[in-house]
Amino acid sequence: MPDLIVFPKIHGLKIQRMLQDENHLLIYLQAVDSQACCPECQQNSHRIHSRYTRSPSDLPCFGQKTQLILQVRRFVCINDTCNRKIFTERLNDLIQPYARTTLRLSKVQRQIGFLLGGEPGKKFSSFIGMSCSADTLLRRIRASSRRDITSVRVLGVDDWALRRGQRYGTILCDLEKRQVIDLLPDRTSDSLENWLVSHPGVEIISRDRGGEYAKGAAQGAPQAIQVADRWHLVKNARETLQKVIDRHQKQVRESVKLLAERESQLSSNQPLDYMQPSNSSTPPNTENISRNKKRMMYEQICELHQSGMSIRKIASQLRVGRRTVRRYLRADAFPERAKRSGPSCLDPYLDELKSMWESGVTRATVLWERLKELGFEGSYSVVNRKVAFWRKIMEVSADGNSILHNAQPVPQPSSMCLSWLLWKPIDELARNEKKLVKELLQTPMIFQATQLIHEFQTFIQQQNSAGWDNWLERACSEDAPIDICRFGKSLKRDEEAVKAAMESIWSNGQVEGQVNRLKMVKRQMYGRASFDLLRARFLNTA
Ligand SMILES: [Zn+2]
Repeated sequence: MPDLIVFPKIHGLKIQRMLQDENHLLIYLQAVDSQACCPECQQNSHRIHSRYTRSPSDLPCFGQKTQLILQVRRFVCINDTCNRKIFTERLNDLIQPYARTTLRLSKVQRQIGFLLGGEPGKKFSSFIGMSCSADTLLRRIRASSRRDITSVRVLGVDDWALRRGQRYGTILCDLEKRQVIDLLPDRTSDSLENWLVSHPGVEIISRDRGGEYAKGAAQGAPQAIQVADRWHLVKNARETLQKVIDRHQKQVRESVKLLAERESQLSSNQPLDYMQPSNSSTPPNTENISRNKKRMMYEQICELHQSGMSIRKIASQLRVGRRTVRRYLRADAFPERAKRSGPSCLDPYLDELKSMWESGVTRATVLWERLKELGFEGSYSVVNRKVAFWRKIMEVSADGNSILHNAQPVPQPSSMCLSWLLWKPIDELARNEKKLVKELLQTPMIFQATQLIHEFQTFIQQQNSAGWDNWLERACSEDAPIDICRFGKSLKRDEEAVKAAMESIWSNGQVEGQVNRLKMVKRQMYGRASFDLLRARFLNTA
């Protein structure tokens, strides 16, 4: 009886004895029943043929590694017509034939594998007294049965990177139940089509704007309504605005410069302005060197492109990304670099530094030593850069002309940053941002593009497609900025799904969330898990 309190799950077995060595418990067991059932003919037999022992691992007992020593009997089948002459007694509740772990241990190992993966699972297992290899855990995951997929009415489809830039897969979600239902190993139209054919009943498919998914959905489930994903639509719209800015670099630079000049005239009665905490503490000559390098790169790219070389070839010859090449080619003039942002560790000490500098201490080493006494933890070079910048300005100021507006280009926000400023409602902008936006909108093409994109934003945000046809016509017309025109035409090609996005309540937001979870699982396995393993783990922890 005490046996059954400590080991309640050994029905049909009797504990003969228990042995304990160092942190290891051995439990000797024997079946109680005097007869066994033949697995072939289901007839009971009493005739014992022979005995042998099996020693499977079991769940740990009080933190000790536990091993069962099972005495198993072979029986002679008494049914003369049976094909089997000898059979081993089955202990189906406890262990499978040939297995080296009990069923309950396998189950726990599988769960550890699902939740932690191979290597972390191995560490955890050994910590709780059931050590096993990482491979064992992965084997348990792979051997797990697939969950049955019930019929889906609203399906969300998106892609995810197995290896970014190289290999992509597809994730399928049940948007009504907010559940992942399957992963596909690629993102072709064929595999989506096959999946849809083998899982009929889908009525609505929410997908990104990729042509492959549209094609796969149309062929696999022609009856389903396709909905373009709003998030992707909004993203594409904002990117279009960025392209427009890239294309009008000259005018943008003019606007930024004009604004800077106007501002500097306003603040010209504050001579020590340059000593205020500033984000760009690099002396102008360093900035100029890197700017000149980029400029040369820009000119080279333009030259090579004019000579007829492809973007791919230019990128590999000059060792830059294809995206950079494309961005440079789109621009009508050299795109100035964005102003560096973020606070400096020197900022809290700037007042002390300034007063020391003004009292005549100008050597960077001395200044650095004194700042360190005040608790400054930054390096010498931070102080040196700042001081060099001031020195340069003092020299030039002594000559009577400021380098700020002559030698150094006016720092210009990146095109992405500008596109966000144009994208946001003007009331949400800060005062100086508003000024910049107003200046940018003086360029007719940028004005027109911004207006059209804002209207598009309203369609998506208010989920109302009234006036859509008119908008599309204006966006696709000859007079519209070329990037807007391309955007409009791409929307036209997918018009039904885009309109559905404005009217339907379904969107791919939750699929993006699942992709994030998938990335987490993928990285837990160091990004090296094969597709089937990743799929089994991901679907079973959903
Ligand atoms: Zn039999």
